[in-house]
Amino acid sequence: MTKTSNYPLIIIGAGAAGLAASEMATRRGVKHRVLEASHRTGGRGLTEILADQYPVDLGCHWLHSGSINPYTEWATKLGFDYSISRWDFSMFIDGAWYFDTDATAPFRYIDEINARMEACQKKGDACSQWELADSDNKWNQFFQYWVSLMSSVDADQVSILDICEYLDTHEDWPVMKGYGALIARQGVDCPVDLNCVVTKINWGDLPISIETSQGVITADRVVITASTGVLNAGDIEFNPKLPGWKMEAINALPLGNSNYTFCTFEPDAIDPDAPDHILWQRDDQTFWVRLREFGHPYAFTSTGGRFAWWLEKQGQDASIELFSDVMVDIFGSRIRDKLSNFKVSAWGMDPWIRGAYSAAQPGKTGMRAELARCIDDRLFFAGEATSPESFSTAHGAYQSGHRAINQVCDSLS
Ligand SMILES: Cc1cc2nc3c(=O)[nH]c(=O)nc-3n(C[C@H](O)[C@H](O)[C@H](O)COP(=O)(O)OP(=O)(O)OC[C@H]3O[C@@H](n4cnc5c(N)ncnc54)[C@H](O)[C@@H]3O)c2cc1C
Repeated sequence: MTKTSNYPLIIIGAGAAGLAASEMATRRGVKHRVLEASHRTGGRGLTEILADQYPVDLGCHWLHSGSINPYTEWATKLGFDYSISRWDFSMFIDGAWYFDTDATAPFRYIDEINARMEACQKKGDACSQWELADSDNKWNQFFQYWVSLMSSVDADQVSILDICEYLDTHEDWPVMKGYGALIARQGVDCPVDLNCVVTKINWGDLPISIETSQGVITADRVVITASTGVLNAGDIEFNPKLPGWKMEAINALPLGNSNYTFCTFEPDAIDPDAPDHILWQRDDQTFWVRLREFGHPYAFTSTGGRFAWWLEKQGQDASIELFSDVMVDIFGSRIRDKLSNFKVSAWGMDPWIRGAYSAAQPGKTGMRAELARCIDDRLFFAGEATSPESFSTAHGAYQSGHRAINQVCDSLS
């Protein structure tokens, strides 16, 4: 199909931000289309079915800050049940269940670091999280792993000023049919062109001309929701080039990496009294192992930061072997043959994403606001990385889509 039409608005990307932008544009009466490079909508929201039975999220999984998360309302409206459970951890360290101290001890260490971060924030010190940790604290390894899941980078790669801005009600609610499925369902009526790769945006004159794998399309306004991984890689060419301040913001908010490994287990393979959330630690590695979500017989774990990049490069079998070894360490060698239906995500290699979520580099401040700033009332930016206080999340992306359309409408009035 060759595209020739002119639209008042084109939205690039049909992830949470792009679909929310489209919903708001429809509500505000702005004619538009959404161009999506992939064969599917949802972006970093992706639910797949494990063992032909259990929906599992390879990307966003929890309705973070559930009580103030707009997707919670959508979940209720669209009949997507979610669980208001809390994480109740048990620890398995160096081959044994660890009962010397209660399982909140590692989190108390994180609370200590959070208090130090707040003190630094008051002084405007944009240091990294690593600089505030105690290298000899027994929970330091756990802290590093936890940061790599929360930020998808390692503790030395993220600015504490950014983290301090994050709005967290500590309500993390998984969606039974999948968060990715919810995002796609919420946007099901949006006018999306799939398999439509945007390669170049000529924005020097109006109308803006957008070169895609399906031809050229023109528009008066463009909302760009592609990840900072995609923008940093230069996958979309801008003519003229983006100004220096915008490039600085894109560079300062790179994506880290984070991946999941899932597998089913035979129902009799694990003692029904075994805890659902296990912090496993041996030598220099930590994993959060989760069992029986929604009562289903599957297990999963996550990696983050440099380790996630490295493991992803080794191929799926390496993740499967590692997770199997961890399960054997906890539950004994007879479990190995009772694990099956493995599924492993690979966000770093996804050509339309190139990582997991954005983290502000140490020393940089105010970059999310710069990323969200429009250029010449023509190019508008949305996506999780532009959210001032809900970055790295699906709901932050959603809210940014609405914000971008309000900016577009202001520019048109
Ligand atoms: C492993 C993992 C776990 C996560 N866990 C959670 C969680 O529990 N809770 C939570 O709230 N968030 C979580 N997140 C983060 C959340 O998924 C993202 O912040 C959010 O989905 C980002 O949405 P977005 O619209 O900003 O970007 P994206 O989802 O990246 O959407 C951008 C879209 O642009 C498209 N695109 C890219 N290039 C082009 C091009 N050239 N032409 C056309 N289209 C293009 C992409 O295909 C994509 O669909 C997680 C993410 C990962 C990876």
